[in-house]
Amino acid sequence: MIAHTPTLFACVALVATIMAFCLILVGQFNQRDGLLTIGFGLLAHALAYIGYTLYGHAPLWLTYGAANTLLSVALAFYGASVFRIIERPVSWWRIFAPAALMLVLMVELIDTLEPRMLAASLVLMVQCTLIIYWTRRYIPAQGRARMLLIIGSSISLIGLGMRVVAILGAGAAEMRYDVSNLKQTISVSIGTFTAMMISLGLVLLSKERSESLLQHLAQRDVLTGILNRRAILEQFSNELERARRDVCYLAVAMVDIDHFKQINDVHGHLAGDEVICHCVNHLTQRIRHTDSIGRYGGEEFLVLLPRTRPEGAVAVLDALRASLAESPARFGESTISLHISIGVCCVVPNADDTTASLLARADAALYDAKGAGRNSLRSAPPYPPHSETTPVRIS
Ligand code: GH3
Ligand code: MG
Ligand code: MG
Repeated sequence: MIAHTPTLFACVALVATIMAFCLILVGQFNQRDGLLTIGFGLLAHALAYIGYTLYGHAPLWLTYGAANTLLSVALAFYGASVFRIIERPVSWWRIFAPAALMLVLMVELIDTLEPRMLAASLVLMVQCTLIIYWTRRYIPAQGRARMLLIIGSSISLIGLGMRVVAILGAGAAEMRYDVSNLKQTISVSIGTFTAMMISLGLVLLSKERSESLLQHLAQRDVLTGILNRRAILEQFSNELERARRDVCYLAVAMVDIDHFKQINDVHGHLAGDEVICHCVNHLTQRIRHTDSIGRYGGEEFLVLLPRTRPEGAVAVLDALRASLAESPARFGESTISLHISIGVCCVVPNADDTTASLLARADAALYDAKGAGRNSLRSAPPYPPHSETTPVRIS
């Protein structure tokens, strides 16, 4: 089917205008989500296609030179949106450099036919390649938006490539914007399709970004930034399952700051907060990246050490306790020394072990450590007294 090319351009311009209007309308209320930048991209896209629609009825500098520069500006805005949405600094001059090049080329080549058509297609191809590169480099692999952006830009690249081949092969006259033939219909349809895919991909990217920020916030403790109680318990459940499946050790430690109430009473609540943060920084900087730490309660933390044998867990945790005792927290002019007590339970989990049972054993060991005078570590016995269960195999 051969479509009337100016009508096709007009349809795209109409759809892009509506989408631009919607995104600019809602995007102005939150400039950080990138919707406004996508909206500006679509607006430039719509204006470019209005220019193409008028080809042959208005001056060439407007319907070709300005229109292609606007399309290049649209792709630059799409590229900028990627950076906006993922909250990376936008290097505006670098992103808009191809659009500036397009402007210069259009001014220089406007009176030619084939060179200006080739130049316009090649600059747009470079911009699509840049969008693919930025998407692959900066957007996490698991996102659906990434897929849309890569497919959209790749199809656009292929469409522009086909246009270049057609200009070189069949001649530029066949690819003028006021000519309707099969090649033009395919070329303009590909352009339309990809413009929609790229803009939808960007909107989806913005949505995915907000979701992942919300998820991050839902998992984090507000004061310290480490996992909150719900998230560390979820992590514990996963680690327990993994240790059971792999038949390997998992060490679970309850860490509690000693006489913390006194610290609050003597130095004030803000100093107490600072002590909690100091303790967390000290612990997080010294555990392995495969270990986890979460805030279980006010001044209580849960530490998970996967694949760690009992003697290793005791050595690591006791070293943490001793080093923290040597490094007091600072709050204003005050130096506040702090100590922690630790209860640790280290097992190769069997079928009966649950997060609740292991926590209870770590907590009982912590209670022993407190009873032994604090600033100390106690281990839970490998299996609770009277237990009939035994580990399947020790790795
Ligand atoms: P022990 O050595 O037996 O652990 O005694 P403790 O004083 O450390 O423990 P206790 O449970 O008696 O007191 C804990 C205090 O921690 C009580 C609570 O007000 C305070 N607290 C809980 N969360 C926070 C917080 O986020 N910031 C501050 N500053 N204090 C907190
Ligand atoms: Mg305490
Ligand atoms: Mg406590």
